[in-house]
Amino acid sequence: MTTRTLQQVISALPTSDGAGVKLLRSLGQAQTLRLDPFLMLDEFSSMNADDYIAGFPAHPHRGFETVTYMLDGHMLHQDHLGNKGDLKSGGAQWMTAGRGIIHSEMPQQESGRLRGFQLWINLPAIEKMKPASYQDIQPEEIPLLNLQNGAQLKVIAGTANIDGQVTPGPIQGLSTEPLFLDVHLPAGEHFVHPISQGHNAFVYIYEGLADVGSITEIDPLVTHAVGVLSDGDQLEVHAGQGGANFLVLAGKPIGEPIVQSGPFVMNTRDEIEQAIADYRNGQLTGVSN
Ligand code: FE
Repeated sequence: MTTRTLQQVISALPTSDGAGVKLLRSLGQAQTLRLDPFLMLDEFSSMNADDYIAGFPAHPHRGFETVTYMLDGHMLHQDHLGNKGDLKSGGAQWMTAGRGIIHSEMPQQESGRLRGFQLWINLPAIEKMKPASYQDIQPEEIPLLNLQNGAQLKVIAGTANIDGQVTPGPIQGLSTEPLFLDVHLPAGEHFVHPISQGHNAFVYIYEGLADVGSITEIDPLVTHAVGVLSDGDQLEVHAGQGGANFLVLAGKPIGEPIVQSGPFVMNTRDEIEQAIADYRNGQLTGVSN
């Protein structure tokens, strides 16, 4: 087995999006800071309603997928197709914008903690104009594995493989073959997991510290930072003092040019112009909007 090592650290920067939701952006903070097929990773976490209450009122997307994973709180998704999705602590929403979706994502609480992540995953050219779809994933649909060393593992997408014991998550069959795990690792413990050779992979620590990969001279990966991994066929994480809670993401690179303008991610400038024109003309989604 070849263990992947830490190649690059992308520390999250504070920013705001939507109608003024405060968040931490790691991947996607600059167009050079992506990891094919992953375009962006935002973490939102606040006890202060002023940081999130304005939410994300109606806005468009075209050409990629958005994945929202909630740790704490309650958000409501509504889209032009008439879908309504209630996103609660421990649940996820996997939305394929395809040719176009217009949706809103609004907090359904006026106090308390709102905490979670939004990940953007690119689509290959051949799928960018497919019909929009989305999947609401309830907390109980996400497998929770308790490992012998006290680690806990949730499988949101792809298939977990712990010592040959496979556990499929609710999201399967996508062309980018995403693996999305949420791991809680006690202090001093190891987590080892296979990752397909040739797939791009990163770890994002949202609580604690950990060593990622087997190169001991690299400092521990700190909280709120993406650790981009080298190629290899397995991932190894060693939690520091106090343990570590982290996301593991891996996916098959698409290898196509990316032209992005805000919520539109296409292959060429012409396709972006078309997306903007379609949105202005009410043609983004292919149904009147
Ligand atoms: Fe959105």
